[in-house]
Amino acid sequence: MSLEVQKKISLADYTTLKVGGVARYFAVVKNVDELLEAVKFSDSQKIPIRVLGSGSNVLIADGELPYLFLKNELKGVTYKVVSEDKILVKASAGEPWDSFVADTVEKNLSGLENLSGVPGTVGASPIQNINCYGASVSETIKTVEVLNTENKKFFELSGEECKFGYRDSIFKHEAGANLIVTAVTFGLSTNRNKNLSYQSSSQSIEKYLANQGIVEPAVADIRQAVLQVRKNIGMLEGQFRSAGSFFKNTIVEKEVFSRIEKIVNDRYEDLDKKFTPWHWSLPDGREKISTAFLLECSPFNKTTYGVKRWRDVAGLSPLHSLSIVTEVDAKAEDVRDFAKLITDSIMEIFGISLESEVNYIN
Ligand SMILES: Cc1cc2nc3c(=O)[nH]c(=O)nc-3n(C[C@H](O)[C@H](O)[C@H](O)COP(=O)(O)OP(=O)(O)OC[C@H]3O[C@@H](n4cnc5c(N)ncnc54)[C@H](O)[C@@H]3O)c2cc1C
Repeated sequence: MSLEVQKKISLADYTTLKVGGVARYFAVVKNVDELLEAVKFSDSQKIPIRVLGSGSNVLIADGELPYLFLKNELKGVTYKVVSEDKILVKASAGEPWDSFVADTVEKNLSGLENLSGVPGTVGASPIQNINCYGASVSETIKTVEVLNTENKKFFELSGEECKFGYRDSIFKHEAGANLIVTAVTFGLSTNRNKNLSYQSSSQSIEKYLANQGIVEPAVADIRQAVLQVRKNIGMLEGQFRSAGSFFKNTIVEKEVFSRIEKIVNDRYEDLDKKFTPWHWSLPDGREKISTAFLLECSPFNKTTYGVKRWRDVAGLSPLHSLSIVTEVDAKAEDVRDFAKLITDSIMEIFGISLESEVNYIN
């Protein structure tokens, strides 16, 4: 048996929030044979599996966790030319996402450049359908190869079968709960179809490129622009101990949007200025409101709850209100309690329920 299963491994260093307890069992999986061995071990011990990529979107509870944690290190990338301008790229699930993106950009392939700088692994990219700067990974995913841990069979899901949504996919629901992603195939192009559409209150790839005097950006220019914009808002791995945005943006009906707009303006009526929450209108008529904006209008904004202001060990990133950051002595319960206070405060002020983007492993 080549798989080495370890006991009582501390998990904090396997996450970007750097908090969390101890795995009852832990194994690094480097190939599909080891993955199958791990699944058999989990069956024999009657202990569920939890897969970890880079731990950049998880909050692992304190104490001992009764699971077999699998650190996914399945590696390998293959490129296949299918027509003059279409390339299929298959990447194993344990490939680090941003190195993979950098490699495709270096080959002048377009499709993933707007997703530059997102921490994590290729295998986790379909789980919440990673998205930023106007692009979602689902737009390029052709197939996702998975192992079903129930029947031990490998098979492929088409993009459609993955049921992608905003920060959502089949893998976050019961139908996908037994699936471990082993590889993802992306359809990329040599024919640049640049996407500079993303605008927020302060960040624009287009503005960044214009400031650099770049009129016809190459894929590599877009990657550089995205990396710089991400750095400005503290959203590159290693800038803070965080899991990126802790909460999802909030999707509401038009009437709810108007109600929220009124609440915001009533709160700041003495400022003699009209506020419109940052938002994106969706094709189905609903509005996606920036949760960062809502936090900025609550007591839980980055000015009052900046780094270390919560029990001296956690707080909000000074560069991004949606990002909870931790200090060396933080525990998972500090993060969880802080997130709950924020959620309760937003419910009290705006009457809406925030959804966590981060996956809790309890
Ligand atoms: C600074 C920072 C910035 C970020 N910015 C963005 C952003 O702009 N856009 C965005 O969408 N996300 C962003 N994120 C979140 C995160 O980068 C992504 O969700 C990423 O895809 C997580 O990858 P991971 O390998 O770290 O997954 P993990 O955190 O290890 O796992 C996340 C979830 O996926 C499951 N999982 C992981 N791998 C597999 C697999 N192979 N098979 C089945 N399940 C699996 C885990 O069990 C867990 O439930 C950011 C995070 C940080 C820290």
